[in-house]
Amino acid sequence: MNKYLKNVLSEVKKKNSAEKEYLQAVEEVLLSIEPVIDKHPEYEQIALLERMVEPERIITFRVPYVNDKGQVIVHRGYRVQFSSLIGPYKGGLRFHPTVNQSIMKFLAFEQIFKNALTGLPIGGGKGGSDFDPKGKSDGEIMRFCQSFMTELQRHIGQDIDVPAGDIGVGEREIGYLFGQYKRIKDVYEGGVLTGKGLSYGGSLARKEATGFGLVYFMREMLDNAGMQSLKGKTVTISGAGNVAIYACEKALEYGAKVVAMSDSKGCIYDKKGIDLELIKEIKEQHRGPISEYLNIHKKAEFIERKNEDSPIWEIKTDIALPCATQNELTLNSAKKLVSNGIIAVGEGANMPCTKEATEYFLKNNILVAPAKASNAGGVATSAIEMSQNSMRYYMPFEKVDNKLNNIMVNIFTSCKSASEKYGLKNNYVAGANIASFTKLAKAMQAQGIV
Ligand code: NDP
Repeated sequence: MNKYLKNVLSEVKKKNSAEKEYLQAVEEVLLSIEPVIDKHPEYEQIALLERMVEPERIITFRVPYVNDKGQVIVHRGYRVQFSSLIGPYKGGLRFHPTVNQSIMKFLAFEQIFKNALTGLPIGGGKGGSDFDPKGKSDGEIMRFCQSFMTELQRHIGQDIDVPAGDIGVGEREIGYLFGQYKRIKDVYEGGVLTGKGLSYGGSLARKEATGFGLVYFMREMLDNAGMQSLKGKTVTISGAGNVAIYACEKALEYGAKVVAMSDSKGCIYDKKGIDLELIKEIKEQHRGPISEYLNIHKKAEFIERKNEDSPIWEIKTDIALPCATQNELTLNSAKKLVSNGIIAVGEGANMPCTKEATEYFLKNNILVAPAKASNAGGVATSAIEMSQNSMRYYMPFEKVDNKLNNIMVNIFTSCKSASEKYGLKNNYVAGANIASFTKLAKAMQAQGIV
C-alpha cells in the first residue's frame, strides 16, 4: 500500500478510534484513490489528505424544549462544517436517536465528495440531533425545531452553510426551522435552507429528486452494461421515507415491478407489486407503520425484522435499492442477494452497504451504484432551489427534473471515465471516489495551505 496513504489512514484511526462510521467512510475513500495518490507524490508535501480528513469545524450545542407534559427535555445538536473548498457547506439535518458525532462526521465527509460530483458550487456539511420525532405531537416538533434553530442560526447563512432535510427532517421540520430563522434574523433569506415548502421558496421536484436521481443513475448503469434499463425487472426497496417512495415512483414509471418495501420494524412483500399510493398514504399522511399495508392488501406479507439482517434482502430480486440508513445491508444479506441472482444494487441511503457487502458484490461482478454518486440528485436539486431563491424565480417541474436527469447522466459519465482511466471498469465505487477526489485535490492545490 502507498506509504503516504498508509500513514494518513493509521493517523486517522488513532485520532478517531471511537468513530466507527467515520472511519468506515474515510477508509473506503482513501483505499480506492490509491492509484491517484501513487501518481501525485507532491500531495504529501502539502498534507493534502491530512487536511481533507479533518473537519474545518464541528459545532455541538444544547437543545432544550418543553414537551406536552410540561417536562423540560434536553437533546444534543450538531453541525459539522467539514469543507467549504468548493462552495458553502451544504448537507442535511438528521433527527434520529442514533445520531452521534461519528455519524455526523461520516455523513459530512461523504457529502464533500457527493457535492463535488454534482458539478455545482457546494461544500460539505451535515448536522442533526439525537431527538426522535417519532410519536411526538406537532407542537413538540415545532418547539424542538425552534430551539434547535435558536443556536444553529449563528452558524448558517445562504453563503455560509445551507442545511436541508434527512432522516426525520422533512418539509414540516424545515418549515419550523425556516420560520424561526426568519424571526431571529429578521430577514427573508430563502437560500438558507432547502427542501422548503412550495408556498415559501421551495423548488418543484426537490421532494422527488433523490429517489428519481437514484433511478436515473441506475438506468444509465444498466444501459451501459447492455441490460436494457429497468423495464420488466423486479426491484426491492428498503425504507418507506422520502428517498424510497420516489425511487419506487420512478422505477414503476420505467416499467419495473417493485415487490417489497420496508421500515424500521420490518418489510412488506407484495408479489402482485407494491401499491405506492397506499404507502404514501400510510407514511406521508399519517406517519403509520408499514404493516398497515396489510389492512388493505390482505394477501401481502409482513415480515418482521428480528436482527441486523433486514428480511427484505431475503426476497429474490433483480435490483436492490437500499434507501433507509447506513450499514443496513450486511455481508449475510449480500450473499443471499447474490445467490438469488441479483444483477445490480443502487444505494439511495448514505453508506447503506457495509464494507464487506460492497466488496462481495464487486467480487461477484454485481453492478453497484455508490451512494455518493447515485443519491446526489437530492443535493443537486437543493442547489437548484438555492439558485431559484437567488433569482427570485420558480422553475417548472419539468425544467428542474430535466436538469436533475442531466446532472445524473454527467455524474454517471464521470464515474465511468474515472474507473476506466484507472483500469477499474464497472467499479463505480472507485470511479465515484476518484472522480470527486481529483476535483477536490485540484481546488485544494489552487487555494494554498488553508
Ligand atoms: P426518511 O426519514 O424520510 O425515511 C427513512 C426511512 O428509513 C423510514 O422508512 C425509516 O423507517 C427507515 N429507517 C430509518 N432508520 C432505520 C433503521 N435504523 N433501520 C431500518 N430502517 C430505518 O429519510 P430519507 O428517506 O430522507 O433518508 C433515507 C436515507 O437517504 C438516509 O440515509 C439519508 O441520509 C439518505 N439521503 C437522503 C436524501 C434526501 O434528500 N432526503 C438525500 C441523500 C441521501 P421508520 O419510519 O420506521 O423510522
